[in-house]
Amino acid sequence: MNDCIFCKIVAGDLPAEKVYEDEKVLAFMDIRPTNEGHVLVIPKAHSTNVLDIEESDWIEVAKATRRIAKATKSATQACGLNLVMNVESCAGQVVMHPHAHIIPRYENDGLDIWHGKEYESETIMKELANKIRNKFA
Ligand code: AMP
Ligand code: ZN
Repeated sequence: MNDCIFCKIVAGDLPAEKVYEDEKVLAFMDIRPTNEGHVLVIPKAHSTNVLDIEESDWIEVAKATRRIAKATKSATQACGLNLVMNVESCAGQVVMHPHAHIIPRYENDGLDIWHGKEYESETIMKELANKIRNKFA
C-alpha cells in the first residue's frame, strides 16, 4: 500500500491535476491520456480494484464518476465518453488501486474499441450463464 502511486496522490506526496474531491473520492487528469481530457476517478481508501473495494466506496465512486463524466463531456465538448475499469493485470490494470477511466470521445479520433465475437455454440453461452447464476444460488 505504501508503494501505491494513487495513495501517494491522495496523501499529497505526488502531484496531480485534480478536478474533483470529496470525503471519499478524488479525480484527476490522467498523465498519459488515451484522448485529451482523460480523467481518473479513485476512492481515497486503498484496495486493489472493483473486486475488493468496500461497497460503500464503490457507490461513492460510481456517483462521483457520473457527475464528473457529465462535467468532462461538457467541458471538452466531446461527442461521447468511454467509461472503463481495467480489472487485474491480464485485463490491462497497471495501477493496483481502483480507478474509473473517463475517456472523452471525439469524432474521428481514431480510437477503436473491442469487437464482439460469435459463440461457437449457444450451449457454451447457456453453460456459462448457468455457472454465473449458480454463484448467486
Ligand atoms: P490502468 O492501466 O487501468 O491501471 O490505468 C492506469 C492509468 O493511470 C494510466 O492511464 C496511466 O496513464 C495513469 N497514471 C499513472 N500514473 C499516473 C499519475 N502519477 N498521475 C496521473 N495518471 C497516472
Ligand atoms: Zn492505493
